[in-house]
Amino acid sequence: MSRLDDTTDILRDLVAFPTISADPNRALIDWVAGYLEGLGARVEVLPDAGGTKANLFATLGPEGDGGIVLSGHTDVVPVEDQDWTSDPFVLREDDGLLYGRGTCDMKGFIAATLVAARDYAGAELRRPLHFAFTHDEETGCLGAQDLVGLLTARGLKPAMAIIGEPTEMRLVEGHKGCHEYTTRFTGAEGHGSTPDLGVNAAEYAARYVGRLLELREALKPRAPAASRFDPPWSTINIGGIHGGVAHNVIVGKAEVEWEMRPVQPSDADFVLGGIAAYARDVLLPAMRAVAPDASIETEVIGEVVGLTPMDENAARDLVAELTGANGADVVSFGTEAGLFQGMGMSAVVCGPGSIRQAHKPDEFVAKDQLAACLDMLEGLGRKLV
Ligand SMILES: [Zn+2]
Repeated sequence: MSRLDDTTDILRDLVAFPTISADPNRALIDWVAGYLEGLGARVEVLPDAGGTKANLFATLGPEGDGGIVLSGHTDVVPVEDQDWTSDPFVLREDDGLLYGRGTCDMKGFIAATLVAARDYAGAELRRPLHFAFTHDEETGCLGAQDLVGLLTARGLKPAMAIIGEPTEMRLVEGHKGCHEYTTRFTGAEGHGSTPDLGVNAAEYAARYVGRLLELREALKPRAPAASRFDPPWSTINIGGIHGGVAHNVIVGKAEVEWEMRPVQPSDADFVLGGIAAYARDVLLPAMRAVAPDASIETEVIGEVVGLTPMDENAARDLVAELTGANGADVVSFGTEAGLFQGMGMSAVVCGPGSIRQAHKPDEFVAKDQLAACLDMLEGLGRKLV
């Protein structure tokens, strides 16, 4: 059996675990833990507060700082309302392409690292090699936040991280952050004929959205001159506005779903500070003048930190050497890389498959992409002995 066939077989096993973000991932994590333990890795399964989800952190080679982290998320996006040709959780091979939910985002990478782990396990590694497989990436990198928090608390500092999100094996050194929020407005219901006697939550939500759109414009001139992102500035999107029961009823509750994609951390502070001040100083006093219990509350759905391109990036230099990349790109989707960078590690994104296939019906990864990933991981093993 070739390494590529083995990778396909492992990917088939991984795809069969329907690890949609909302559902448990423990069965998959336990399966991977058993596999890596069988290779002699030191494996930790780190459950979340609820116990049905877990991160996995495993190490081959020596203990201590300076290691290399291979990072991937085990959760996948839902398949509801998507028109799949075949069962999304049964791997299907057709003409060099492997179809199934998560094949490209990002169980293909995980499968390749598990095959490469056999080589690493049989070698005398000079530095630690870590596997970091997390839960709830698609809902805001929640698992990775826990994992990075734990490594920080232990004082363990690996040197670099390679995050295998689908980049078609291109080397990526930067991406925007992705912050998602739901802001809820509680007003006071009443009859539509007497608007001054109620507090219309939908109208305050609309004013809030108006202010967000002003901030969106104000972000454009703040873009760093050397920004390589497309568009070069930080953006805001309104993803949903909900509320109300009938034409003639003052809306008592409303909510706004919105996101921001900062190119620099200061832009996130600018938006969050600006919108909080507007809610506190303008909207809330007006609402509470009529209904003292009126409120505006913002829930953080996820705050995925951006990956800032750095002049010095040891992970970029290493992966460039392994893949032959001439330069490094920036991309518009978020990953766990920024969290590792925030720990002081160097981090890059490089993985098999295309982001164009991610989250879609009939998601697939090409076998030649997996082969290229295996080549990179094999080269990494040679670097570590
Ligand atoms: Zn992903």
